[in-house]
Amino acid sequence: MKILIKGGYIVNEGRVFNGNIVIEDGNIIEVTKQQPEASFDETIDASGCYVLPGVIDDHVHFREPGLTAKADIESESRAAAAGGVTSYFDMPNCAPQTTTVEALEEKYALAAKKSHVNYAFFYGVTNDNAESLSKLDGHRIPGVKLFMGSSTGNMLVDKQEALERVFKNCKLPLMAHCEDTDIINRNMANAQEAWGEDPPVALHAMIRSEEACLSSTQKAVALAKKYGTRLHVAHISTAEELEMLSPYSTDHDSIATKITAEACVGHLFFTQLDHERLGSRIKVNPSIKTPVDQYMLRQALTDGRIAVIGTDHAPHLLAQKEGGCAKAASGMPMIQFSLVTMLELVDEGVLTIARMVELMCHNPARLFGVEHRGFLRKGCRADIVIVRPKSPWTVTRDNILSKCGWSPMEGHEYQWKVERTLCNGQTVYANGAIDANVIGVAITFNHS
Ligand SMILES: [Zn+2]
Repeated sequence: MKILIKGGYIVNEGRVFNGNIVIEDGNIIEVTKQQPEASFDETIDASGCYVLPGVIDDHVHFREPGLTAKADIESESRAAAAGGVTSYFDMPNCAPQTTTVEALEEKYALAAKKSHVNYAFFYGVTNDNAESLSKLDGHRIPGVKLFMGSSTGNMLVDKQEALERVFKNCKLPLMAHCEDTDIINRNMANAQEAWGEDPPVALHAMIRSEEACLSSTQKAVALAKKYGTRLHVAHISTAEELEMLSPYSTDHDSIATKITAEACVGHLFFTQLDHERLGSRIKVNPSIKTPVDQYMLRQALTDGRIAVIGTDHAPHLLAQKEGGCAKAASGMPMIQFSLVTMLELVDEGVLTIARMVELMCHNPARLFGVEHRGFLRKGCRADIVIVRPKSPWTVTRDNILSKCGWSPMEGHEYQWKVERTLCNGQTVYANGAIDANVIGVAITFNHS
């Protein structure tokens, strides 16, 4: 099967140029400005469009197994494909939690049957399972997820000696959710004293405060420096945390002991003032902070202190999002709209399209050692998204594919549209429709 993607603006490794991509048996075999002369089984006309590597989302919660009323691998991988995301790394706080090798194997078996894009699963570390880290197969997983302060119960690692053990023993990328639980609990108690049992959601950023993020991120960075751990700090939400990070540059940084950071689309697009309009729909942990924090996060996209953009796609049923700081669930779906949202920020001049591709495609591949994906290069798998500018459409309940059926973006008009998504050379999404026969594969990693 030989496919030609003809005549779009190819965005790859810092360059934007009009060109053609030749795909054979699911692999990119040529990227060229010339018109290829061979004959093809299929020709995809991309004129007027931009052709990007498929997005690699390093942070999703697809809720399977166990929490499938909210979401499942089949439904959310559809949303991913429609959003131009061809690979995702799913987090371990499902039920059972992915904190044993058996639970990890179960998730790979589920995804192999029904994920419409490529998949990989983080292993979750707890206060008690640090010994099992040495048994993990680094070729198959992106890394280990650590909750340093969070509401996810027994996956919280809060004992100092357990933390030291994790940072010392973890030879894979260690992705950390950093929020200090003691500070949060104290703030919550104060807020409840003033406002009652369920303080209004506008106070979320005062409870899940800047100080809580700072204290925990500081601790993680110090431990990573002490043990030489490959730390990736998830969803940075404050300007102050950025000051602890040094820019990641592919020119002079070896990734082995580098400390890197992720920003999430929600924190880049919303500010805490949006609670007024969207209530608890955008309640998320860590909380969405001030316009100044948002501005500084956006700056850090270009200066390298933020290395990756993820979604923290975390669906809940709308009923579970009701209430205030104590009652409403934290987390929101985003994967279907992450690429078009970031393209909107490109239009606003926040970052260039080439830099966006670094942050959403190249760097997730580099930081986690993803094999043969994340680039439009000869020899890579043909994970490709074609997007069209100046093509307005509006998010409605009807076009949301996530199982929860709602989005914080409802009513929003986008100018960019995902026209087609190819996963391993197969069109999984085109003209608004998913081809449910397309199934992704397990992503492989080289962490050396
Ligand atoms: Zn998360």
